[in-house]
Amino acid sequence: MSVRHVLGISGGKDSAALAIYMKTKYPNLDIDYYTCDTGKELDETYQLIESLENFLGKKISKLRAVENSHLNPFDHYVKIKGYFLPSSLVRWCTRSLKLEPFERYIGSDPTLSYVGIRGDEDREGYISTKTNIQSIFPFRRNIWSEEIIKLVLSNSNIEKMLDLFSSIDLENRSARLLELLGQQIGVSFPMQQKLNLILDLNIRDFNKLVFASLRETSYPVALEEYFPLVEDESNLVREDIFRLLEDSGVGTPSYYKKIEFEVNGKKGEYARSRSGCYFCFFQQRIEWVWLYEQHPDLFFKAMEYERDGYTWGQNESLAELIKPERIEQIKYEFISKTTGVKRNGPFLLDILEEEEEVGCAACFL
Ligand code: SF4
Repeated sequence: MSVRHVLGISGGKDSAALAIYMKTKYPNLDIDYYTCDTGKELDETYQLIESLENFLGKKISKLRAVENSHLNPFDHYVKIKGYFLPSSLVRWCTRSLKLEPFERYIGSDPTLSYVGIRGDEDREGYISTKTNIQSIFPFRRNIWSEEIIKLVLSNSNIEKMLDLFSSIDLENRSARLLELLGQQIGVSFPMQQKLNLILDLNIRDFNKLVFASLRETSYPVALEEYFPLVEDESNLVREDIFRLLEDSGVGTPSYYKKIEFEVNGKKGEYARSRSGCYFCFFQQRIEWVWLYEQHPDLFFKAMEYERDGYTWGQNESLAELIKPERIEQIKYEFISKTTGVKRNGPFLLDILEEEEEVGCAACFL
């Protein structure tokens, strides 16, 4: 049985950079690229998809949660939900518009899904609950999912790892590696510590051990005779992502680029920190102001969804948010938050970063 290789493009920088990285570094992997279109993305996202298609030399499949509706996917679902808007607490949109179309697209095929979580992030992203889909994280030192790490580094797997240590081809069969592989995890020696120490020794050897350890399991990677990412020792962080985008000619989506504003003689800068729907409830107030001032047409469309007491924000409607005195206040607060923060380059993500990591990897990678 052959394994499918897929990579989801969210419209954000990290997944776009991952597509560039995989195409450049692993040209022989036949990867299906896809994107889940909610019908409510920014134009910049659609432009990014087009530039990527040119770079990749192939089409990116556009998955839509509904095909036979006169409404676009988001509007179709919001109608079904009685105009109940999604929120960070009830995030029906991610499941219905992103995850379900993805799982339908995959069906029952054994699949390796490449995910663009960076080496400087501490999150897992979307891990499919479907057993035929296995996530791989090429930007991190540890390319394997948490579930795989728990399996291979568990105390009950120690004997198997020790057997593999002696039987498979390793670059550095060191006494220290042997010692670490045999060490039980527990309160005084957590799994993460064991993992980091092993990775510090030799990433390729660790990957070989994991790959061999999964051989007789039902994980999709076990169907591969050879898996080239076993050799991958990369650890790519945010600056590398922007470099990949710029060097490839694909470019960085323009919504990341900061724009200057002035409020009562004080200067500040704003930008949007994420891809996804233009009305996404995860955006910060300053991003709503950015949307109002940079894409007023979209802002007013977002306002139209606020009815019957449903609002995008938790304590404030968009009509309240754009009162001139409120905009001034939001901008002032943002200037205070950003004053004194060291920034390099044309982006504000170093300031918006804690927000960037909130939310859903299906939408914002
Ligand atoms: S971008 Fe935001 S609103 Fe759109 S599907 Fe994702 S979480 Fe929902």
